This record gives sequence, C-alpha cells and structure tokens, in this order.
Amino acid sequence: MLSHDDAWEHVRARLPLLGPVPLPLPEAVGLVLAEAVTAAAPVPPFSNSAVDGYAVRRADVDGAPDGGAGLVLDVVAEAAAGHIVDVPVGPGQAVRIMTGAPVPEGADAVVMVEDTERVDGGDRVRVVRAGAAGDHVRPVGDDLRPGDEVVAAGTVLTAAHVGLLSTVGRTAVTVLRRPVVGVVSTGDELVPVGAPLGPGQIYDSNRPQLLAAVAAAGFVAVDLGHVPDDAATIESVLLEGAATCDALLTSGGVSMGDHDLVKVVLDDVGDMRWMQVAIKPAKPFAFGLLPGPGGPVPVFGLPGNPVSSLVSFELFGRPGIRTMAGHPHPHRRRVAATAGSTFRRRPDGKTHFVRVTVEGDDEGRLVAEPTSAQGSHQMTGLAAADGLAVLPDGDDVPGGARVVVLLLD
Ligand code: AMP
Ligand code: MG
Repeated sequence: MLSHDDAWEHVRARLPLLGPVPLPLPEAVGLVLAEAVTAAAPVPPFSNSAVDGYAVRRADVDGAPDGGAGLVLDVVAEAAAGHIVDVPVGPGQAVRIMTGAPVPEGADAVVMVEDTERVDGGDRVRVVRAGAAGDHVRPVGDDLRPGDEVVAAGTVLTAAHVGLLSTVGRTAVTVLRRPVVGVVSTGDELVPVGAPLGPGQIYDSNRPQLLAAVAAAGFVAVDLGHVPDDAATIESVLLEGAATCDALLTSGGVSMGDHDLVKVVLDDVGDMRWMQVAIKPAKPFAFGLLPGPGGPVPVFGLPGNPVSSLVSFELFGRPGIRTMAGHPHPHRRRVAATAGSTFRRRPDGKTHFVRVTVEGDDEGRLVAEPTSAQGSHQMTGLAAADGLAVLPDGDDVPGGARVVVLLLD
C-alpha cells in the first residue's frame, strides 16, 4: 500500500498548469490571478467626508472656547456626493456635507451631523459637543497610492478582490483558466437516476454526486454519461473526454474485480499508475494521463463505492484540479477538534477518514462526533458529515483526545 502523502505526491508532480485567460471581473471570482495589478491613481481619488455633517476649519472649532461646544458657524454651501463645491470654507464658515462628497477647499475636518444643531433654518449651524471636529475626512490615497500593488499574482480572487480591483478601474483581469472537468461513471449494474430499476441494478448516484462536487469546487462540470463495463466503450468515452476537458473523473472499475476495466483501459491508452492507497475509505485509486489537444489530461480513477468515490475526489481530485488552476492552498482546511466520544478503530496500516459532525462548544472549541453510518456504501453517514476526522494508523481514539478534522465546507 502507498501512503496517502506518497499517492498525493505522485499525482501533484504530474499535474499540468492551466493557461491564463482574460475574464470580466465578476466571472473571475474563485480563480487565481495570473498578473500583478498595481494602482495607477490614488484611491480614494479625492479627499472626501466619511460622515454626513459639516466641513469645517479644524482651527475654528478646536480653537474656540469650551472646545468648540456652542460655536456657531455660517453655512455657505451644501456638498453632495458626486458634486464639486467651488465655495471655499473661510474662517467662521462651514459647508453642509454628505458622506462621499469631496471636502471643499479650506476645510480640513468634518463635524458629524449628530454633534450639531441647525440655527436659523439651516443658514447657520451650532456645534454642540466639545472636540467635535473629528477625524472624519478620508484623505486622497488613503487606501492605495499610485504604484501600490493592489492584488498579487497567485491570489485566489474573492468578492472583496473584485470590489478592490473595481476601485482601481479594472473591468477584466488575467486569471488561470477555470478547469473543465468531465465525469463518467462505469458499471453494468448502474441505471440512470429516473429509469426503472431491474433486478441487481442500482441507481448511478456517483455521477450526479461528482458533477455536483465539481460544480461546488468552482470547476465547469461536463457530464460524459454512464458506460457499461466494456473496455472499448470506456476507451472511446475517455478519449473523447480528453479531447474537450482539462481533467476527467471516472467512477468505478479501479479495484481488484474481474470487470474493473477503467484501470486496464487507462494503462492501454495512457500513462497510468494504479494504487492501493493506505486509507479507509477509498483505498483503490488510479491516476493517469491521456493525450489531449493541449497536452496531457489527468484522469482521476475514483473507486465506485459512493462514499469512497467522493472521499477520493476530496483527497485527490479536488486538490489536484485546484493545483492545475494555480491554487496556492489546494487542500481542504484542517482544524484541531476534540473527540466527542470514542472513535473505534484497529491497527490496519491505514489512515482512517471518519465522517464526523463538527460543532463549536460554549468556549468555541470544536467537537467532532462520528456520524452513525461509516460504511463506504453508506451515503447517509457522509451526507450528515461536516468533515473527515483523520485518524492515523493505530488503536481507538478516546473521547476527549485531539483529532485533526478536514472540513468539507
Ligand atoms: P467498483 O469500484 O466498480 O468495483 O464498484 C464498487 C461498488 O460501488 C459496487 O457496489 C458498485 O455497485 C458501486 N458503484 C459503482 N459505481 C457506482 C455509481 N456510479 N453509483 C452508485 N454506486 C456505484
Ligand atoms: Mg464496477
């Protein structure tokens, strides 16, 4: 058996990197920036008010008796966001100002409206709190100065990055391409969901499951359908898939059975390594490279057991394809949790990935509890799980012990 780390390293070392493409900004979220973006102009582009209030001369307010409380100023203009006020603020004067409006010449502080009272129907204003000339001016270039790096190459773009890049006027960026991932399921016993089940048949649940997982990972999911346990059919579907996709996921046909033909086909038409990974579930796994139009196309040969199939996708497929898309941290986040009860296991040379719920206790500590069904065919246990507790080879893990959990969401 191959350790999980060695199996991942075998995969990682063979993954091609996808090419850069220009994309309109909102569409680039979740993708990895392939260029460094710098600011050409300051942000904000002009000094403006952070609050609704009155633009004033700080010296007028701070220099007045009682720290400015009771001071009355003449209101000479109104400054709304998006409009320039040409009237300078002279001594003893104020300009009524709204949030985001340019601070008029002469003014260097803003008194919040909450610290004022209108006098003479608004022609004048009284400051009602000492020291009210607050720090409510957002200076030009307060967030970015010309030449500053806005977002570094290699950054995974979030909604906040989309907002940030928009503040410097970018409408498009160059990112590493969104991976296109084909999913094919294999097995004579499988019936497409919705069709009637005959004797000995089950629904092909892995294909919709993997298509959903692919989409949830932010990849483009392509349904390549279901094929029977027939080498020629498997071969033609895989080669067709490799012609149009960046990576392929297969379900089934990689264990030790007589009809496990995915590994046979991958060996025939591509460069393939079949592995017995020292993990439970998801021990059988095949990783191959098929020839594609733009270079090798990785094929992740996932096991057929439904839990194994999704766990194998989480451990190899998802991080592998994220690596192709340039993600600096391709794996699920690992957190430390406390075992809520005993985790049963025996030494068997394998790392166990136990389906767990994870909840925070009153002190904010995470507590992991195994879900009831742990069989590799029991989707109920995986569907109920928030994460996978990683139990190294060995004996039971007692309640209260520290366990590492791979968070699934
Ligand atoms: P295999 O890896 O092909 O030997 O399949 C292992 C187990 O997973 C068998 O019980 C299969 O019936 C089941 N299985 C394989 N493919 C699927 C699928 N697409 N959906 C649901 N169960 C499957
Ligand atoms: Mg099968």
